Amino acid sequence: MADLTERQLIHLQELLDTQEISARIRARVAIPEESDDCEPTDVDDAMIKMELVELADIEAAHRRIDNHQYGLCIDCGCTIDYARLQASPTAKRCTQCQRLHEQRHH
Ligand SMILES: [Zn+2]
Repeated sequence: MADLTERQLIHLQELLDTQEISARIRARVAIPEESDDCEPTDVDDAMIKMELVELADIEAAHRRIDNHQYGLCIDCGCTIDYARLQASPTAKRCTQCQRLHEQRHH
């Protein structure tokens, strides 16, 4: 486990839960109930995809908490700043590795 206190971890889990609820609501809004006579537009598709990616990230964060890997960078293993986790509770890389990752994928 990273250098997070139990209190910090509980707070981050609450942030994750809040994020999960709003992502689920947005995903449901984006998916039309009457899909027969209402083809989803490209915009809706992109939005659903975004919410699904976010939900997968949240799920992965919960798994890392269970495995005591949460708050550790998946690339270099260093501790991710609490401030960074507060801003982005699903963060799985430290700021430096995230920057490198984005450079490699753009
Ligand atoms: Zn790192």
